[in-house]
Amino acid sequence: MLLLKGKPVADKIRENILSAVENCKSKGLDLPRLAIMRAGEEPDDIAYERRIIKNCDSLGIEVKTVLVDRDIGMDEFMDILSDLNEDPKIHGILIFRPLPEQLDLDIISRAVKAVKDIDCMNPINIQKVFEGDTSGILPCTPEACIEILKHYGYELTGKNVAIVNRSMVLGKPLSMLFLLENSTVTICHSKTKDLPKITRNADIVVTGVGRAKFFGPEYFSENSVVVDVGINYEEGGLCGDVDFDSVTDKVSAITPVPGGVGTVTSMILLNNVIKAMRLQNKG
Ligand code: NAP
Repeated sequence: MLLLKGKPVADKIRENILSAVENCKSKGLDLPRLAIMRAGEEPDDIAYERRIIKNCDSLGIEVKTVLVDRDIGMDEFMDILSDLNEDPKIHGILIFRPLPEQLDLDIISRAVKAVKDIDCMNPINIQKVFEGDTSGILPCTPEACIEILKHYGYELTGKNVAIVNRSMVLGKPLSMLFLLENSTVTICHSKTKDLPKITRNADIVVTGVGRAKFFGPEYFSENSVVVDVGINYEEGGLCGDVDFDSVTDKVSAITPVPGGVGTVTSMILLNNVIKAMRLQNKG
């Protein structure tokens, strides 16, 4: 069984970011700059922000944190977002979610300028993916799944892929990315009949149901390449959707949790600041 660790994949992306930052420095250009919008003092948001700032510091990406009151009104939020959209020194915008309930996520998502939308909130960026156009900002987690498989040398053309998730953050856009790689995709969900039969017959299985250790050996074959996207909190710490210990002897390869898809997703998010900067310099 091959363990598809995320770190070497993230390290490669990291190198790309560092060389883009170096390029800006050598040419005397502005450094890439990310704006984070955080509403209130939610502990999870603060911890996430700290991790991002630490990573950005180590990469040479500048960060502007915009902290607003948790009870901010829609108009004020939109005004601040508009300023960030128009500020040429801000290349990427990241809005922490979930937003407080008085803020309309749908309107806000559409308002983030598409070329600064590093978290792929704006439907314009998703639409591009569905049109087979990968020139914009791609959704981070689906891109991470594809990057891991490519990094470890898997040929995706003609492969049967089963994705157990039909959400807009994972299953739907990921199915489009696999189609672009000429894979044959089956999207599964909670109403799918005989799920183990479908996943067992697939070459690649992506799991994203959000249930700890849901997938046991009966879901896989000895040829299965498994990408476990699930992030679940158990008493012993983080775990994926796959019952890792019971399937390791059975499958051909699997991503660990933690240390798999999530590790790559975090780096792709920051790489999107570089991508966003390039898109803005182009247009
Ligand atoms: P979600 O919107 O709740 O989607 C869960 C999906 O799983 C739905 O399509 C649901 O089907 C399906 N499902 C649930 N129970 C099932 C069952 N018994 N059999 C078959 N399918 C089932 O969640 P999400 O936002 O897409 O996230 C999914 C997981 O990925 C979560 O654990 C999340 O933490 C993790 N995640 C990880 C990363 C990362 O970077 N690693 C990033 C984002 C999310 P229905 O549509 O029929 O309800």
